This record gives sequence, structure tokens and C-alpha cells, in this order.
Amino acid sequence: MKTNKTLKVLERTIKILKPPQNMKPSEWAEKHLILPDGAAAGQKLKLYSFQKEMLDIIDDDRYRKVVYKTSAQIAKTTLLNSALFYWMGTDSSNIGIAQSSLAELKQWKSAKIDKTIEQVPVLQELVTDKNDKTKANNQQQTELNDGSFLYFMTLGSAKALRGKTLKRIILDEVSAIDQHSEEGNPIRLAEQRATDFGQEAKILISSTPTFKGDAIDVEYQNSDQREYFVKCIHCQHEHSLKWENVKFEWKLNGKRSIPDAITAKLHCPECQEIITESQRIKMVANGRWIAQNPEITDTAGFFINRLYSPNSTIQAIAKDFELAWYEYNYQSFYNTVLGLHYSDLQEELDDLALENLRDDTFDLSNIPDSVLGIVVGCDQQLDRLEAQVLGINESELFVLGYRYFYSPNCEIKGAKAYNDLATFCNQKFKTVSGREVPVLKVAVDGGNGRAMQTVHSFCQQYKKFEMIKGSSSTTGDLFKRSTTDGRQFYMLNVHEGKTWVRSLLNNAVAGKTDAPLTIRFAHDLPDDYFDQLTSENLERTGSGVRWKQITGRRNEALDTLVYSLCMMKLALSKLGGQPFKKLREYRSTKRQEIAPDNTPIEQPSETRNKSTKYIKPANKTSIGKSWFG
Ligand SMILES: [Zn+2]
Repeated sequence: MKTNKTLKVLERTIKILKPPQNMKPSEWAEKHLILPDGAAAGQKLKLYSFQKEMLDIIDDDRYRKVVYKTSAQIAKTTLLNSALFYWMGTDSSNIGIAQSSLAELKQWKSAKIDKTIEQVPVLQELVTDKNDKTKANNQQQTELNDGSFLYFMTLGSAKALRGKTLKRIILDEVSAIDQHSEEGNPIRLAEQRATDFGQEAKILISSTPTFKGDAIDVEYQNSDQREYFVKCIHCQHEHSLKWENVKFEWKLNGKRSIPDAITAKLHCPECQEIITESQRIKMVANGRWIAQNPEITDTAGFFINRLYSPNSTIQAIAKDFELAWYEYNYQSFYNTVLGLHYSDLQEELDDLALENLRDDTFDLSNIPDSVLGIVVGCDQQLDRLEAQVLGINESELFVLGYRYFYSPNCEIKGAKAYNDLATFCNQKFKTVSGREVPVLKVAVDGGNGRAMQTVHSFCQQYKKFEMIKGSSSTTGDLFKRSTTDGRQFYMLNVHEGKTWVRSLLNNAVAGKTDAPLTIRFAHDLPDDYFDQLTSENLERTGSGVRWKQITGRRNEALDTLVYSLCMMKLALSKLGGQPFKKLREYRSTKRQEIAPDNTPIEQPSETRNKSTKYIKPANKTSIGKSWFG
């Protein structure tokens, strides 16, 4: 292959002949730049492996826009500065530099940019003398010897952008700005300043995130969404580093369990082996960026967080989580450490406010007269079934009660717990005035493969019993008829159900009485009932968000409430166009039958009356489980 050889020789020659300004941006930066501050002040810049592609992409003409969604402490400013200095040093042009606030902007300009220029000869010779009165140098601009300018502005003062033509724009901390300001979205306004340059224009947009839907979220969603993948040192499995793969034990702090940061270890999600600090650093050094949304070809987006930082440790990050946990302050941990968005659905609900939702006026023995029907959601565990009983009408949901039915093995057919559940659900529930309330639907979880046959054949015996399974998908109908191995069941979109529960809870805690549907809770629900309802956090996944269980927390109450809500929707769907009218008609027939019958609500022998709190059979640590479930 002579041509190939010739080509190679030619390539090599060209490389040698290429002037230094045609180095890759990362090479140029490492050759010339000096760190202006911090522990390594005065030393030569050394980029992290993952930063190289983040920087080199500014020379790739396919991408007009580059988005950096990052945690704090991952040398984001170094990256933006390197881009700025590379442009200054190799292809001068007007460059706009914008920060969220004036204070941030001043800090950036004087402590980082000006200071670096002073220390780096190749930059110093480009800039006009500060003391030359014929040149326009001030806080808003720096004039270069060739007549081009660096313009400094805040994102809030979009007016400052008018009349300027900028080939390159750097926007930092965009999530701190109001995207819907009267003056217009500052990101769009900034982009318009660069339209004259077409594909040659370059816009860098950077931020730590705040909430879902904030500016950096929107920009990253509209990019090719690159994530940094590393190869497991043990099994070669290629994966991106995620917080849920950090595992740890819990320690007692007074009565509260809190994470024990010292025990935190990163694990491979595939082989589960521990990845040590030196292995993590080695893996990161050899990682690569992979686009998760490659259909987008004109905007490159990078997501990186502290789990990748060679300057941090897993234990240090876990220490931050321990503090966040202790202070109930998850948002800053999500934003600044993980570089993830935080949804208000995730906002920590106040424990006391939740406990105050317990309502003394009703329970299973005192069902309000406004209840028109009952639905039950039941979860299957090895040694028990757990059932949540929900009373419904058009505008109110009453969590009437919570019951446990025990058997040594609930996976096998004929386990007594099923009979107890059937007896419980088939009894005649009555309101305080003695009117009978129909049980419309009972869902029993058949998601455990070993118990599925048992659950299915049990549900077959009664028309109102339905086997259900939770779907792993976050999209789709709330409930959907499905079949597996000839067995019919309902597939539930539990993700949507959990989101529904959280918004019901948020409204209840906020005391919103004007919501279309309000939820109320009986006083005698288990002690840890609300702890369970809030046992999952909304976590970002590749392209969306997903509820994830917090390690060490039980979530059956959340699951069974979701099941009963789904059963409500299912039951109503079977009652035609005006389901509540039908239920009211049914109620009026039952009203006539009211008899002075005060039979107490049936309590299966093993139901705990005194304390309804479920006690863990053994004291297990959470090692081996992930943070979020
Ligand atoms: Zn592995």
C-alpha cells in the first residue's frame, strides 16, 4: 500500500510544518497557561483527561454551540478560561464573556482572567497597556492590540449586548438567570450577537444546574448529551460514574440513622466489585465521552461531576452527602456535587408537617359518610402481605387504614396470609352512619417472579382482585392490561403513580384545599407511614427522571398507595362516563338497607393493633444495596 505510506509521511510532514497555533486547544492551553490562583497557583495548567475533548471541541466546525453541565469543583472556570485564551492567542476576534451577576463577573475578570494574562507572556503581548489612555480598558472591556475586544457583561443586563458583534461568546452560570425576563432570554439574545459569523461562531454555555427545566437543563437536553464512560478495572464493563454506585453503611446519630461516610466505596454496577481511589483515577484517565443523544449534530453537550474528579475522593463526596442528609439539604448536594438537577417534587417534606396530617376524625372503624367506594393496594413480601385501604369520592381520598397479614412464606400457594387478605377485603365495610361501602378493586403485586403464580391464582378467585406488576418504564398509561404466560394482569406505570402521590402530599402539606383532589390520612396508620411515603427521590436518568428508593428506607406504603390509586382509576374506568353518579346511585340503594349493626371491623388475628409499626426482622446494614434502591 504505497499510497498509504506516502500519505502517512505527508501527514507527519504537515504536522511538523504546522505552526504552533494549530495545536489542539488542549495542547496549546497546557503549553502556555499558568494557574492564576488556588493551591497550584503559578504552576503550569494540567488538564484532566475528560477536559481535553471538552476544550478541543471548540475547534470543531460542526458544533456552533457547546454546553457544559457540571458540578462545582470540577475546574469548569479553567476550561472556559482556556477556551478564551486559546482564541485570543491563535485567532483573535471580539469575544463576549457573561456571568450571572456583577460580583461573579468582577471576581472572574480580576482574579482569573486579568491575573492569567499578566502571568502568561504570549497573552500579555496581545493586550493593550492598561495605562495607555488612548485605549479603552475598564471593567466592561479589554482592548487587544489588533483592535478587537473582550467584552464583559452580566447575563441580566442583556441590553449591554446590543450593537455588538461577537464571534465568540462564553456564558457562565446560566442556571442562575431568569430565562423568562422581560428583556428576553439572555442566552438567545447572546446567540443573536453571533449570527453574522454563521458556523464560525462559537457559543460556550456553562453552569451547575439548579432545578429541572432551568437554563442549563434546556441547553443540555438540546445537545448531543455526552457522558463520560470509564471501563471497570475488574470486568471491563464500560459505564458512567453514578452516585447510586457508591455504597456505605449507616450509623446512629441519636435516634437518627445517618450515612457513615468513612465506609463509602465506589462499586462497579456490573460486577459489584469495589473500585479503589487509585483504580478510579486510572479508569477516569482512560475514559471516553459518549453521546447519549447523537441525533443532535450541531450542539455538543458535556455532563461531568465530582465523582470523576482526580482532586476529590469518594469518601469526601460521601461526607458531603452525610452533611446534606443530616441537614435535610439535598439540593446543594445534587447541584454542586453531582451536577444534577433537583425537582421541586423532590423537595424534602417536613417530617412534623407530615405527621400533622394524621386525622383523628376517621379510621377503618369510622369511615366518613362521604366515602363512595373503597380500593385496596397490596404488596407481597416473603413473610407478609401489606394492604393499604383507600376510601374515595370525587374530590377526596381517605387513607382509611393499613394492615399486615403474615405467613412464613407468601410465595407458596395456600399461604394463610392470602385467606386473611381475602376475608379482610370481602367483609362489609360500613360508614359511621352504618351504610355499606363497596370494595371496588383490590390490587395484589405479582411482580415477584417466585410468587407470581400464587398471586395470580389467588386473584383469579375473586372478580375484584387484580394481579398487578410495576412497569420499569417511566412512560405509558397508568394501568394497562397485559398478559404473560397466558396470565392476565395489569401493568402499572408506578413512576407516574409516585409522582402523583408526591404532588398529593405536597398539596396536603401546603394545606391546599382548592386542589381538584385532596388526600387525608387516618390517625392510626403505621408509625413510619410518612417516612415510607417519602422514601424515594426523583433522580435524573439519561433522558429523564426516575423515582429511586433511598437505601435503608422501606417503601411499601408508597407502593401500596400507588397501587390503590391505580385501582381507583381502573374501577372508575369501568363505571362508564359518570362513575361517581353510579356510585351515588349505589349509595342510595344501600342507605335504605341501613340497619343498626355495629359489628366491629374485622381484625385478622395477626394484625397489630397497638403499634402498627413494622419491625425489621434482622438488623441489616445497607451494604450491597445502592443508595437509591
Ligand atoms: Zn466490573
